[in-house]
Amino acid sequence: MLVVMESGSGAEHVDHVVRLLSEMGVDSCVLEGACPPIVEVLTGNGTVDRAGLEEAPRVERVLDRAEPILAGSRTEHEQTRTVPLGKHATVGGRQLAIIAGPCSVESQQQVLEIAAAVADSGAVALRGGAFKPRTTPYAFQGHGERGLEMLARAREETGLAIVTEVMCTEQVELVARYADVLQVGSRNMHHAPLLRAVGQQSRPVLLKRGWSATLDEYLMAAEYIMRGGNLNVILCERGIRTHETYVRNTLALAIVPEIKRRSTLPIIVDPSHGTGRSHLVAPMSNAAVACGADGLLIEVHHTPGKAWSDGHQSLDPEQFSKLMTGLAPLAEACGRRL
Ligand code: PEP
Ligand code: MN
Repeated sequence: MLVVMESGSGAEHVDHVVRLLSEMGVDSCVLEGACPPIVEVLTGNGTVDRAGLEEAPRVERVLDRAEPILAGSRTEHEQTRTVPLGKHATVGGRQLAIIAGPCSVESQQQVLEIAAAVADSGAVALRGGAFKPRTTPYAFQGHGERGLEMLARAREETGLAIVTEVMCTEQVELVARYADVLQVGSRNMHHAPLLRAVGQQSRPVLLKRGWSATLDEYLMAAEYIMRGGNLNVILCERGIRTHETYVRNTLALAIVPEIKRRSTLPIIVDPSHGTGRSHLVAPMSNAAVACGADGLLIEVHHTPGKAWSDGHQSLDPEQFSKLMTGLAPLAEACGRRL
């Protein structure tokens, strides 16, 4: 059982709930970093007087079962949380956050060239995998730390924030040393130890939806991160697996307005993995912004035909620039800025 306090309630209200529970003969603990404060009811010899708890000052609600609270807790007037994207940008405000770059970091030259091009077109962050979660062990697995160094150099030269994937708990400290945002990929959305580990460090986390995860499972994965004290979570819809074959994944955009209804977390859309086809990236980017997405994650490569991974879904810099130009009036019509 969980006792959720109203936002803005003070330590004295939380202490009062803890004391009430103790008088009922029940142990409890206050969840670290939870906002609003939450008291978890543990087992004890006594019996919980639920009505007594509900009537206590500044208690918002008492929940019987585990459901996302931190990640799924939008009350009517709450705004989307604003999450920092490096030093100069945020996700979740009026400005759309456009994160663009190659699927994989291939070379210093490649990353610098693409970073300059996407920055020129208005991207605020550079994406690129140094640790790559590939479907086959016989494909390029990424340059590892060398790739992270290449990304850091691109940040120095362009001012773009760096978003890059961390695949396991052992990599968290290393990736956090170089990246502005740690990406947890679709394959790892269910990996609780990794979610806990990124929840205990200070960099914001971009959490991609597992391709077979339901919305509730997705919000619970975000909950793992936030329970560790890291509330800076960016959600990212990247398509789910269906029977359909003309696309790599089915981009399930209805999740965007539904997340907006339930959660204060910002949500961006990845139309590159979400379709797997470069000609679908611009139209689905427009659709994502139209339905309320807070930003986009787009794969861009200077020569998509020669990309080491995901070339068929990557835009070249010119196509990316066109996409951005087309997006501007649409963003404005939706009350957003590019
Ligand atoms: C990626 O964005 O680099 C990636 C591997 O995507 P996903 O985890 O969505 O497959
Ligand atoms: Mn990719």
